[in-house]
Amino acid sequence: MGRIYLSLSQQSGFEIEYIEKALQSNWITSGGPNVNDFEVELQNYFGEDSFVAALNSGTSAIHLSLILLGVKQGDEVICQSLTFSASANPISYQGATPIFVDSEPETWNICPENLEIAIKDRIKKGNKPKAIIAVHLYGMPYKIDEIHAIADRYGIPIIEDSAEALGSCYKGKHCGTFGEFGILSFNGNKIITTSSGGALISNSKEVKEKAIFYATQSKDDAIHYQHSEIGYNYRMSNICAGIGLGQIKTLQEKIDSRRNNHLFYRELFSTIEEVELFEAKNEDYFSNYWLNTILLKSSKVKNDLLQAFEKADIETRPIWKPMHRQPIFESYPYYGNKISEKLFENGLCLPSGTNLTNEDKKRIEKVINTFFN
Ligand SMILES: *Cc1c(COP(=O)(O)O)cnc(C)c1O
Repeated sequence: MGRIYLSLSQQSGFEIEYIEKALQSNWITSGGPNVNDFEVELQNYFGEDSFVAALNSGTSAIHLSLILLGVKQGDEVICQSLTFSASANPISYQGATPIFVDSEPETWNICPENLEIAIKDRIKKGNKPKAIIAVHLYGMPYKIDEIHAIADRYGIPIIEDSAEALGSCYKGKHCGTFGEFGILSFNGNKIITTSSGGALISNSKEVKEKAIFYATQSKDDAIHYQHSEIGYNYRMSNICAGIGLGQIKTLQEKIDSRRNNHLFYRELFSTIEEVELFEAKNEDYFSNYWLNTILLKSSKVKNDLLQAFEKADIETRPIWKPMHRQPIFESYPYYGNKISEKLFENGLCLPSGTNLTNEDKKRIEKVINTFFN
C-alpha cells in the first residue's frame, strides 16, 4: 500500500510516439512541429475564435498577458487573493502593484461586490487598475456574468487564470475564453501535463503572434539579431509539446475521471453533517473538479483530519493561503470581508487524481468514517 497523493500526472501511453518523432527529426529545441500541432489541438478544443500560444509555463502566460496589456511600473492590477502565488507574482515582475480582492462563499472566487469597491476606491485615489486577474480556483468557474459586467462598466480587461480549469465551463462555454486573455497550466499536477508548460488564449491571431514574438526574445524582422523590445525565453519546448499531444488525446477521460472522484466524495459526505463539500451552486457552473475540497467546522478539526490522513499515508493539503496574508504581499491593499481567510483556516484539499483506484477510495473512506464516528 503506497502513499495516496493529491494529484499526480497520468500518462495516456501516446506521449512516447510524439517524443520519439521530435528526437528522430532532431527537433530538440523550443518551438517546432509538436508545438504547432499542440496549439492546433488546443484551438480546436476551445473553438473558432480562440488563438493559442504554447509557452513554457502558466506563470509566463500570465506575465505575457500583463505585458500585452501594457502593464508597467506604477500601474495597479487587481488580483483574486485566494489563489496560488503564480497568479500574482507576474504583477510584481512588471514593477506594478497588486491590489487584492477577497472571495465570495459560493464559488470561492473573486467577489463582485468587493471588486467594485476596489475599482471605485483605486479610481478615487487616482490610479485606475490596468487589469483584473480572476481565477477559476480548483476548477470552479468564478461568477462570470457579474465579474465581467463590472469589468466592462469600467473598461478594465480581465485575465482569466484558467490554470486549474481546463475542461470547466460556464453556461456551456469554456473557461479561458471569456476574458481578454485566458491562461492554462500544464504543470505535472494539472488536468493535462507537458511536464512544465502553459498557454495563452486570446481571440486574435495578431495577439497570438505578438505573444510568440515576446516569448522568443522579441527578434525584429532582420537578418542579424536586432531587438526593439525586451524579449523573454518563454516558448514551449518541442519535447514538452510531444507530451502534451499524447496527453490531450485522453483529455475527456481525465475530466470524466475527476468528476467521478467528485461523485465519490459527494456520496461519502452525504451523511456527514460536519463536512461541507465544495460544489457547483447550480447548472451554469460546470467544474472539472481538479481538486475536491471540503470545509470543516474549525481549523482544529481541519488540522486533526489532516493528521489522521497523514497517519494513513494519504496526502491532503490546506486551501491556498490568501495572497494578502503572504509575507511578500501583506503590505499591499486588500478589499474584502475575510471570506478567503475563513476558507484557508477551515478548508482541506482531498486526493483527486485521475489515477485514484477503488482501493484508494476505500482507504480514504475508512479514515473519514473512523474520524467522524
Ligand atoms: C498552477 C497554477 C499557475 C501557474 O502555472 P505554472 O504552469 O505552474 O507556472 C497559475 N495559477 C494557478 C491558479 C495555478 O494553479
